[in-house]
Amino acid sequence: MIFPLNNEKIFLKKVVAEGVTTVLVLGEKSMWNGRRYHSLDYYLKENFGEKLYKLSLDGGMTCPNRDGKISFGGCIFCSGEGSGDFSASAKLGIDKQIEYAKSLIWEKFSGERYIAYFQAFTNTYASSEYLKELFMPVILRDDIAVLDIATRPDCLEPDKISLLSSLAKIKPVWVELGLQSSDDKTAEIINRGYRSSIYPEAVKRLHDAGVNVITHMILGLPFETKEMMLKTAKFISDSGSDGIKLQLLHILRGTELEKIYEKGEVKALREEEYIDLVCSIIEILPPEMVIHRLTGDGDKKKLIAPLWSKDKKRVLNLINHELKIRKIVQGGVDNQIVLSL
Ligand code: SF4
Repeated sequence: MIFPLNNEKIFLKKVVAEGVTTVLVLGEKSMWNGRRYHSLDYYLKENFGEKLYKLSLDGGMTCPNRDGKISFGGCIFCSGEGSGDFSASAKLGIDKQIEYAKSLIWEKFSGERYIAYFQAFTNTYASSEYLKELFMPVILRDDIAVLDIATRPDCLEPDKISLLSSLAKIKPVWVELGLQSSDDKTAEIINRGYRSSIYPEAVKRLHDAGVNVITHMILGLPFETKEMMLKTAKFISDSGSDGIKLQLLHILRGTELEKIYEKGEVKALREEEYIDLVCSIIEILPPEMVIHRLTGDGDKKKLIAPLWSKDKKRVLNLINHELKIRKIVQGGVDNQIVLSL
């Protein structure tokens, strides 16, 4: 429910009132430390008192969409590393991987606590015994503040949920779900291998287990219109996902998508299209949802298109500028009140 306000000087943060879950007043200066959206940086400082860096790890699993259980090809945009292009080899063992990942960021991060991010492939695609042996020592480390696990909503059997629930009693556990689109026709085109209807149920089961959910959405998937993408953003919001990661479709060397792109059957988004889409999505996301990413870091060595995306800083600046021009603040526009009932 949205009510317009006339007083431009009102900048309330968050109020919990009787019978109302969330009340936010959106003002020109926004409520997230000068940002017009609820950024991950803001969330971390509010909840952990400091910025935390992610350490990208490989738990040594594969993916049912690659090993033949669902298909051998994988999602058409997925690189051979299963989106884990930045982690060290699983053969190193987790402790050495953690040290390696720390060494990559020591110049820009002086903190002492990190997010252990199991990124490569599907990180609940193994027995719960294997997963317990993998995750437990990590979550018990003093330098790890959050256990972050990327997986698929169709790889969350009851024993895995139960394990996640016991881990979440020790420290915060985040699960990242690769939805990408809510459209089942698109899901077929990208060879995702599951129907969208299982996603809201997975979010609910994870919430019941005390786990924080982050959903991945890709903008610019083949044949998707702006309307379809806004529908996906609404679908994710309605599911109650705690966070969202927005990602531009990257056409990477060695993927199925590359072949389709070379035939001219799909095209990459233009920069102005992407900026318009991101801003329109921010306008409809609930203010309480944390935006973990506005544009992704693809492997630059493998990137074929769109090449403008290599300059991430410029893209982020353009998004922030466009939000200001259009007076968009996450969940609405300037000087409106948003009630989540
Ligand atoms: S589910 Fe993830 S790891 Fe598996 S093929 Fe798709 S993108 Fe790659």
